[in-house]
Amino acid sequence: MPDPMLNEEERMLQNLVRDFADREMAPRAREVDEKEEFDQQNWQGMARLGITGISIAPQYGGSGGGYRQLAIAAEEIARGDAAASTGLIAHLSLGTTTIYRFGNEEQKQRFIPSLASGRGVAAWALTEPGGGSDAAALQTSAVQRDGTWFLNGSKMFITNADVAESMVVFATQDREQGYKGISAFVVPRGAPGMQVNPMHGKMGMRASSTSEVVFQDTPVPAENLLGEEGRGFRYAMEVLDSSRITIAAQCVGIGQAALEEAVRYAQQRESFGRPIAQHQAIQFMLADMAAAVHAARTTTMQAATLKDEGRPFINEASIAKLIASEMCVNVTSQAVQVHGGYGYFKDAPVERLFRDARVTTIYEGTSQVQRLLIARQTLAQYPV
Ligand SMILES: Cc1cc2nc3c(=O)[nH]c(=O)nc-3n(C[C@H](O)[C@H](O)[C@H](O)COP(=O)(O)OP(=O)(O)OC[C@H]3O[C@@H](n4cnc5c(N)ncnc54)[C@H](O)[C@@H]3O)c2cc1C
Repeated sequence: MPDPMLNEEERMLQNLVRDFADREMAPRAREVDEKEEFDQQNWQGMARLGITGISIAPQYGGSGGGYRQLAIAAEEIARGDAAASTGLIAHLSLGTTTIYRFGNEEQKQRFIPSLASGRGVAAWALTEPGGGSDAAALQTSAVQRDGTWFLNGSKMFITNADVAESMVVFATQDREQGYKGISAFVVPRGAPGMQVNPMHGKMGMRASSTSEVVFQDTPVPAENLLGEEGRGFRYAMEVLDSSRITIAAQCVGIGQAALEEAVRYAQQRESFGRPIAQHQAIQFMLADMAAAVHAARTTTMQAATLKDEGRPFINEASIAKLIASEMCVNVTSQAVQVHGGYGYFKDAPVERLFRDARVTTIYEGTSQVQRLLIARQTLAQYPV
């Protein structure tokens, strides 16, 4: 059923991406999950549709959309193959967006056209082995010698790192200064002293690649410093604020896929002489799932609309990420329940959706971190 909240152009985009995801991604989702690596075929397909630069202006090789378009595309890609949407989000709403928002004109011309067109992939490296939630405590150092920066330290759980053409890396010039000592750099593929160690054994999102990245005296030219020295932490937080909208959209896509699988199965499977969809207990489960997906989608699109209109959106983005990620963990679990024993085996797509969903309450700010942010805003809204 067409979504009444989308305009004609947005509906065309939704149909285009859904058709691609149904034809080319969903049928291969199980196979790429088992391979456990970045899938080039999915990537090339997204690049052909212009999705790899959907929120980037045409003058830098993008499609010129906003966060509503990005959210629509992220939901449909996630509905077809959640892991592909993880790669897309790390590339576009984290890596490429940081350069797009905070790079100077020369940097944007140098890096973005290749990334937006999908010829190159971006990665974004903030988290370290010592912690992700407390990002201001990062330890990777940046020291300037003779006009060149040298990075030392390591990053953990970095999506796309093994295939990235450009990686945005956050490092500190002075740990004593806390978040004020952090700057952002673009590190090109194959930089000397940079070692990318792919990490295997993820529970879900297995067709997205995740790596540890180690820097040993890695030289970064002065012209690859993004924005101003000492403002990198603020850039990272601003980019995360808006990227949460795309993670929320990803969760809606996973929830929608689980709901569709559950509805289909409930109409085919029989118990006590009738399809299980005729048992009220199953109907109530499907109703709860449909209502939760709908509420998460509405909240996500509201945050995207506020962002596109230049209105305050940060609290709404955190609320959308919290609601949508917890929805997606619950809805995929309910979808497994509707499938009974068959839902526990790999032949059922809900088995993969259940595993893929789990990370969404962890990355780009855990549910606990979202609650901290929402609580801060809520307390400020109602001062005594
Ligand atoms: C598949 C995957 C892909 C990822 N991709 C990227 C990427 O591309 N780039 C990148 O930079 N990072 C990436 N990450 C890292 C991710 O963002 C972090 O895992 C996340 O921020 C949590 O950090 P942590 O794992 O160090 O957990 P910790 O920060 O150690 O947290 C552990 C637990 O303590 C809780 N906690 C921490 N502090 C508080 C507090 N103050 N109050 C209450 N509870 C608290 C957390 O909510 C969590 O439950 C990825 C992670 C995964 C799993």
